[in-house]
Amino acid sequence: MRLFIGLELPAQMRLAAQEASLLYRRLAPGRYVEAELFHITMAFLGERGEEDLPALQEILLRCAEKQPVLSLSLSHPGYFSKPENAILFLSVHGEESLYPLDNRLRAALRQAGQSFDIKPLRPHITLARKVNLRARQASAEEISLPDPRPAGGAIARLTLFHSTRVQENLRYLPIFRADFARP
Ligand code: ATP
Ligand code: MG
Repeated sequence: MRLFIGLELPAQMRLAAQEASLLYRRLAPGRYVEAELFHITMAFLGERGEEDLPALQEILLRCAEKQPVLSLSLSHPGYFSKPENAILFLSVHGEESLYPLDNRLRAALRQAGQSFDIKPLRPHITLARKVNLRARQASAEEISLPDPRPAGGAIARLTLFHSTRVQENLRYLPIFRADFARP
């Protein structure tokens, strides 16, 4: 099964991201993601067997137990790759608070001999793929799309997701959750 570790979004943040996505859909055509799938990836694990689950759950628990509850909110839109065939995402305010968790997670995965994608963390919420931003291009790096409402909230756990298809539809099923430390 295909696995990744990530953060589920608070309801208000998901809703505001959905509002932005509905607007962008009209301004920049592409393959937009359902709001149900919005998340922040922390570590991409890839194909794994059932036998890896106990060790992965242990890692989530260990990394989450010292982590204070995170407070994140939506920030400006951005893109990866080429403007005419882009991955459109929303950045998040408070992303610097994710780096200690990222460091602990990578160290724990490495120590346990669990492979993961080693690209540096770039916290983001993917809204769409194959987006044509040419009509929205302000300069080489900048695109002109309105900012989302700066909705945010508390993120109080780390989630192990199973990326799968349910009746043809892509789904990220939470299969394990580890709560952060309560104040
Ligand atoms: P699909 O691949 O079916 O088009 P998807 O990319 O949303 O859909 P996955 O490939 O399972 O689904 O990815 C799950 C999450 O992990 C997404 O947030 C995706 O951006 C991220 N991800 C996928 N591959 C990698 C990778 N090699 N490195 C880092 N993150 C990745
Ligand atoms: Mg993919």
